[in-house]
Amino acid sequence: MKKNILIIPGDGIGQEVTTWGKKVLQKIGENYGHEFSFDEAIMGHTAIEATGNPLPDETLAKAKASDAILFGAIGHIKYDNDPSAKVRPEQGLLKIRKELGLYANLRPILLFDELLDASSLKPEILQGTDILFFRELTGDVYFGEKNRNEDNTFASDLMNYNRYEVERIARKAFDAARTRSKRLCSVDKANVLETSRLWREVVQEIAKEYPDVETEHMFIDNAAMQLVKNPKKFDVVLTANLFGDILTDEASQIAGSMGMLASASVGDGTGFFEPIHGSAHDIAGQNKANPLASILSAALMLDISFGLQEEAKAVTNAVAETLKAGWRTGDIANSSTETSKILGTQEMGEKVLEFIK
Ligand code: NAD
Repeated sequence: MKKNILIIPGDGIGQEVTTWGKKVLQKIGENYGHEFSFDEAIMGHTAIEATGNPLPDETLAKAKASDAILFGAIGHIKYDNDPSAKVRPEQGLLKIRKELGLYANLRPILLFDELLDASSLKPEILQGTDILFFRELTGDVYFGEKNRNEDNTFASDLMNYNRYEVERIARKAFDAARTRSKRLCSVDKANVLETSRLWREVVQEIAKEYPDVETEHMFIDNAAMQLVKNPKKFDVVLTANLFGDILTDEASQIAGSMGMLASASVGDGTGFFEPIHGSAHDIAGQNKANPLASILSAALMLDISFGLQEEAKAVTNAVAETLKAGWRTGDIANSSTETSKILGTQEMGEKVLEFIK
């Protein structure tokens, strides 16, 4: 198979971890006889420094011309501490999602048994958890009109959804539920928000097309609580942009660390694969970042964009073997981990490569 992959490392640890996602794709290409070619582009703070634009036209053109994109993370401490900055790294990410029509963000909560003790939750609560989140990505407060009055005493963000935006992601989530345990939980705040009432109405309508899928509706506050109380009760979770952002960070603790969770953003064109974590200023440039989320994002690319299930499995198996052999990065180590088994980004990436058959 011939594929043209664009790597967008972005900022901070994004640059460190995508190196390993890319190396894994190269190794899979060699082992399975695929011709993967790679190009690179800038985005975020790095792009603002170089061009003044968080998403330069050249990056967008390369993105549109590629078969799939492996992205790292964007963000810089400078902007976190200056909310008034007009040009911001995250504008690049929001724009590329919009331009590529990436409306569905899939976040599998993949729990490796070896990491049961890396979570702050009890192993018996976690064991057997297998959740697939569908987070809507093009609507909600992220894209609604934003306002601030002149004397800085009032601000507002408009939360809005169009019916078609709910319909298209709901169908994707129901389709996925059919291939899994046929259970779907739609999360909203329909007791308070008008957008959520539309969301629930649309999901109820689409649910009639999937009578074989058991559909449940849950309020976001309850879902946030149930997720840590009894995560096994969830299978496919369908939710809006803001609620999905928060719930999936919470769910990262089921998998042990932000450094373990991959995601796929898909729509009608090029797929976009990225860890759920950010640029992590606190550990950037120190060879401390866990590269597994980027490596697992590469596995999602192989599976979802290229339909290479066997190759994707080879990557997740290599990650499982690495963990089984006791290797850990700092974020997933605990008090019983031998110090000699705690690795840096580079060493962990090398271990996974060794385990790829
Ligand atoms: P973050 O995800 O960068 O970090 C949160 C915590 O998790 C930090 O303590 C960090 O050290 C740890 N962590 C994250 N990824 C890790 C990894 N791979 N290995 C080990 N530890 C890891 O979130 P934050 O601190 O809220 O934000 C930092 C910057 O990232 C901000 O500028 C923010 O805007 C940006 N951000 C970007 C994205 C994105 O690009 N998709 C997502 C979230 C935040």
